[in-house]
Amino acid sequence: MSKMNIPFSREIPLNDQYDVIVAGGGPSGCGAAIAAAREGASVLLIEAAGALGGMGTNGLVPAWCPFSDRTKIVYRGIALEVFEKAKAEMKHVKQEDLDWVPIDPEALKRVYDELVTNAGVTVLFYTQVLAAICEGQKIDYIATANKAGITAYKAKIYIDCTGDADLAALSGLEFEYGEEENHEVQPTTHCFMIANVDDYHYRNMPFLHMNNKDSAVYDIARSEKYPLVTDPHCCNSVIGPGTVGFNAGHIWDVDAADPFCVSKAMMEGRKIAYQYHQGLKEYLPEVFGGSFLAATAPAMGIRESRRIIGEYTITLADYMERRSFPDEIGRNCYFLDVHHSIREREKLLRGESNGQEGHQGYLDGESHGIPYRSLIPKNLKNMLVAGRSISCEHIVQGSIRVMPVCLVTGQAAGTAARLACDTPDNEVRAIDISKLREILKRNGAFLE
Ligand SMILES: Cc1cc2nc3c(=O)[nH]c(=O)nc-3n(C[C@H](O)[C@H](O)[C@H](O)COP(=O)(O)OP(=O)(O)OC[C@H]3O[C@@H](n4cnc5c(N)ncnc54)[C@H](O)[C@@H]3O)c2cc1C
Repeated sequence: MSKMNIPFSREIPLNDQYDVIVAGGGPSGCGAAIAAAREGASVLLIEAAGALGGMGTNGLVPAWCPFSDRTKIVYRGIALEVFEKAKAEMKHVKQEDLDWVPIDPEALKRVYDELVTNAGVTVLFYTQVLAAICEGQKIDYIATANKAGITAYKAKIYIDCTGDADLAALSGLEFEYGEEENHEVQPTTHCFMIANVDDYHYRNMPFLHMNNKDSAVYDIARSEKYPLVTDPHCCNSVIGPGTVGFNAGHIWDVDAADPFCVSKAMMEGRKIAYQYHQGLKEYLPEVFGGSFLAATAPAMGIRESRRIIGEYTITLADYMERRSFPDEIGRNCYFLDVHHSIREREKLLRGESNGQEGHQGYLDGESHGIPYRSLIPKNLKNMLVAGRSISCEHIVQGSIRVMPVCLVTGQAAGTAARLACDTPDNEVRAIDISKLREILKRNGAFLE
């Protein structure tokens, strides 16, 4: 695309009433906003969509990744609060369950709404952060766009929870994108929901998953009738009576920062969901014969895009050696869940791979620490990042990207932001780390 200069200058309103601005209202953004507000900051949470929860609600991701290391709960504090409240709405789920608990997206939206409201957070929906104006090593103010036009906001501390490190990129910071050498990112998935499923037959059919080579997903992926279902990736959970959420199918090479690319992927995703559903009806008529495709997600399922370059980058070696850090703000035990590339897909379909090579996981009770420094972008004083774009190697992002971890990094960023509001220069590096850890522990965090 060529570039041009246009005379685009006019007076815009400037709002400077907030201490902390959180960009993005997914799990990390909600965790950050709630934590900062509970510690006494005035907080504005800016969200591009019309609901909080990010991928867990607008993305229709149908299940929580495990909350436990199979011996204890690892993701606590606000993460556990959100999880327990959302689970309480799921009457068919055993309340003691901790791992792969299904998500009712409407219930989860209400949980986030209630928690941010009770914490005193101001929420601004349908608003996109579109620019950051920096002064030296600080963000001076940000510009946002919505139905009211363009508005500037000025705060002491900004927290980038956009998932795509939008605010970091808009501030001119360098970032990593995908795999370190070829910049390949994980494939996307457009999640969907099928209703009027036969509950009895669903519960009694063979495991409908890529790990079960005999399951119908392989038939669908190999069938020429459903050409857009090109691989057997299929996670599914009962999210309500007769209603099953699907995280199934893949689209490769989607650049989250390219709106044309995402728009094309959304349309392709809807076609994949339709073909997937047709295939399920054909191969599992007793389960899906009378069902209908109730919804596709309003948001594209982006697993990976930009990652900040932080004061510390969590490495594969850190993960493999289960390292702890003096400044750790939480722990993580989820496996290295990097979805297969388009090349590996062929092997998978031929039955020569299970699609999970390199998926290193931990033994019971093991975890690694997440250092506070991985939330601090280099070269900026008054911004923190939480969620799936914190500073880590591509392969580690496959683990830290999931929702329980994002809630934990969000809570830490929000708490640290509140502390940074009291430092002379609003510098996120200047906070007392032991105080941060003390507050996090007091508020339920699991820290070694
Ligand atoms: C297909 C798929 C399946 C997954 N399955 C699971 C699973 O089973 N279990 C699990 O726990 N995790 C799963 N994950 C991972 C997890 O859902 C996400 O990685 C996690 O939600 C990331 O949290 P986040 O807060 O960083 O970002 P997001 O959840 O992506 O939230 C970011 C929010 O910021 C908003 N936003 C973005 N840019 C802007 C902007 N410029 N201005 C204003 N707002 C903005 C977005 O609208 C969004 O609401 C899955 C992810 C995908 C894509």
